[in-house]
Amino acid sequence: MKPAAPPKSARFLRVNGVVQGVGFRPFVHRLAQRLGLSGWVRNVAGTVEIHLEGPEAQVDAFERSLRADAPPVSRIDGLQSTSVVAGGVDGFSIIQSADADGVRPVPPDVGTCSSCEAELFDNTDLRFRHPFITCTDCGPRYTIIDELPYDRERTSMKAFVPCPRCATEYATPTDRRFHAETIACHACGPRVWLEDTAGYERGVGETAILLAATALRVGAIVALRGLGGFHLAVDATNDAAVRRLRERKLRDAKPLAVMVRTLADARAIADVSAREAALLCSSARPIVLLHPRDDAMLSSALAPGLDRLGVMLAYTPLHHLLLDAVARVLVMTSGNLGDEPIAIGLDEGRDRLRSLVDLFLLHDREILSRCDDSVVRVVGAHEVFMRRARGYAPVPVRLPVSAPQPIIAVGPHLKNTFTLVRGDEAFVSPHIGDLEGTEALDHWRQAYDRFRALFRIEPTVAVRDLHPGYLSTRVAEELGLSRIIAVQHHHAHIAAAAAEHGVTTPVVGLAFDGTGYGDDGNVWGAEVLVADLSGYRRAAHLRYVALPGGDLAAHEPWRVALGYEALAGAQTQSFGLAYYGVPLSTRVGVGQQLSRGVNSPLASSMGRLFDAAAAVLGVRRHASFEGQAAMELEALAGDLAATPLPFPIIEQGGMLILDPLPMLIALGEGRQHGVDVTLLAARFHESIAFAASEVARRVATDAGIDTVALGGGSFQNARLLASIERRLGEARLRVLVARRLGPNDGAISYGQAAVAAWRMVHE
Ligand code: ZN
Ligand code: ZN
Ligand code: FE
Repeated sequence: MKPAAPPKSARFLRVNGVVQGVGFRPFVHRLAQRLGLSGWVRNVAGTVEIHLEGPEAQVDAFERSLRADAPPVSRIDGLQSTSVVAGGVDGFSIIQSADADGVRPVPPDVGTCSSCEAELFDNTDLRFRHPFITCTDCGPRYTIIDELPYDRERTSMKAFVPCPRCATEYATPTDRRFHAETIACHACGPRVWLEDTAGYERGVGETAILLAATALRVGAIVALRGLGGFHLAVDATNDAAVRRLRERKLRDAKPLAVMVRTLADARAIADVSAREAALLCSSARPIVLLHPRDDAMLSSALAPGLDRLGVMLAYTPLHHLLLDAVARVLVMTSGNLGDEPIAIGLDEGRDRLRSLVDLFLLHDREILSRCDDSVVRVVGAHEVFMRRARGYAPVPVRLPVSAPQPIIAVGPHLKNTFTLVRGDEAFVSPHIGDLEGTEALDHWRQAYDRFRALFRIEPTVAVRDLHPGYLSTRVAEELGLSRIIAVQHHHAHIAAAAAEHGVTTPVVGLAFDGTGYGDDGNVWGAEVLVADLSGYRRAAHLRYVALPGGDLAAHEPWRVALGYEALAGAQTQSFGLAYYGVPLSTRVGVGQQLSRGVNSPLASSMGRLFDAAAAVLGVRRHASFEGQAAMELEALAGDLAATPLPFPIIEQGGMLILDPLPMLIALGEGRQHGVDVTLLAARFHESIAFAASEVARRVATDAGIDTVALGGGSFQNARLLASIERRLGEARLRVLVARRLGPNDGAISYGQAAVAAWRMVHE
């Protein structure tokens, strides 16, 4: 006897999150077909709508699988499910996108997936060794999308007309490349060629890749047009070649990242924990800061003085092919001179990089949005962003308050990002860089115009830093918007950390960084604030020190030591090592500058305190980039157990002042008495962690607050972060640390946006 047909039910689902451009509709289609359901799926603004008809049990199974088996890059933030009346739909189809005026997410770029990687090296496959193999689960997105909705004709893939075979796969529901907008093969995809610096073509396709690999193996520097911009590649095992790259790029000490093809290759050069492995292999494929192995046989010029090396896995098919052919670890550093924005255009790359490289490995798929590699490190159980860009941007971060009008928060002066806001969605740009020089400004404006067009947001309110003289302030003013809101730098740091966690009640904020303009006109950088999104009160700070030469002090740590020595009153013998190698006449001149108060701004900067300690310990008197001394001290300290040195907290007119002078003197004396510098570096870290936690605890108790938010670039120091988190935890305080954005200035624009949105709602 034939069983009775099960009762038929119909359901309407609305899914939001990262659900467009990540193979979600094809996945829904396959799932519905597998379960024998009829209906349709479509994109509507930022959401996916699904109509299902079929047996109740199957519809339930669909909902479960939707969450459990969703494509790896997608992220379901919300799923609404409603029972509806069955309309007798036949079959299942993907129907036309309805372009409502809602929030429009743009998917991030996705590293080559394992299926595509397998096909790339399978000589029976149609796309064997095709440098542009992709599928619905992987490939470029943000960097090639011109407009939404995300369809091929609105990307830079529109220049490549799919061949009949690709077109068939695109239209076949059971195919992995069903609706893969970036589908391509040898017959129809972009092409690769090798060019010399005079512009002559040296080879095409496979030949180009093999010739580039051969050149790399003998020490050549190759400019590689990648996904979000140009890279400069060189053999990381060739010391002379790495040094030549540094000379040409005018980058004498900043660490250089390397790329390897597989996780096994990464394990051959560095220690990789399970969490680090997951990050390396994640679809975002960030640079992960790893502890290099002693037997790695890499150039010693990659990360001089540091105990971490930036490692990433190949994330495009072209990387896979090149690394496979070279069979060496490659340096992959951004294609620029010094700190300029990375080059993206063909002619731009040729012009700007010709003097730096020996060869160009190029392709003809345009890069529409510049996007640097992201940099992440694992601290304890969490990951901390050093730089958030490719693979993460421009996925929105939620604000705890909905902005009544669209906002552009222009971000800080250094390590700039900007944030566009509509409602409670904050679209944080990828890393832009320092806003100094016309190239950086042009880059900022281009990126801003592109973001506005992509997300269709026309801001009416601009948010800027308090500093009247920064280029970012000029940028905000030149936008000509009806309203400009100014937000203090360290308030923005704390607001960013709190807002990301949805916290709008007052917190104690520890804002530790290099520099930010204070509301008293001084240079702030080690601030304890009682803050919420509406405002802040400065409850404590590091004792002010005069910095002779101002900004110059960030590059000459010995000057900071001299500033602290002036606080000590008399010549302090213990600071002697700080000036080793500094000509006496220079030191005397700078000393006079200090005593007359000429160009010697007052600073309460944590970054400069690290500089002073590095100088006093004889570790570094001149720095080639800001933060170098701090990174070296962290590397020296490692995880050596140590106790704090004296670091008194003094009350002055209702304000708590942290005085580091006794600690600096103790460091200098210890060093002169032959105490190991690694132990002193460790004690230095513990001193700061102890004093910071102690002051946070006191301020929290006085204010009746149980939550502490940490913000500022100093929290990229893993030892400092871990020690402060542990100490605050022991004091039973809840600790908020940036997770989706980094603690450094890359999060400032988001914090500015959070403060502005709150003020607009509550004024
Ligand atoms: Zn793929
Ligand atoms: Zn094709
Ligand atoms: Fe900062």
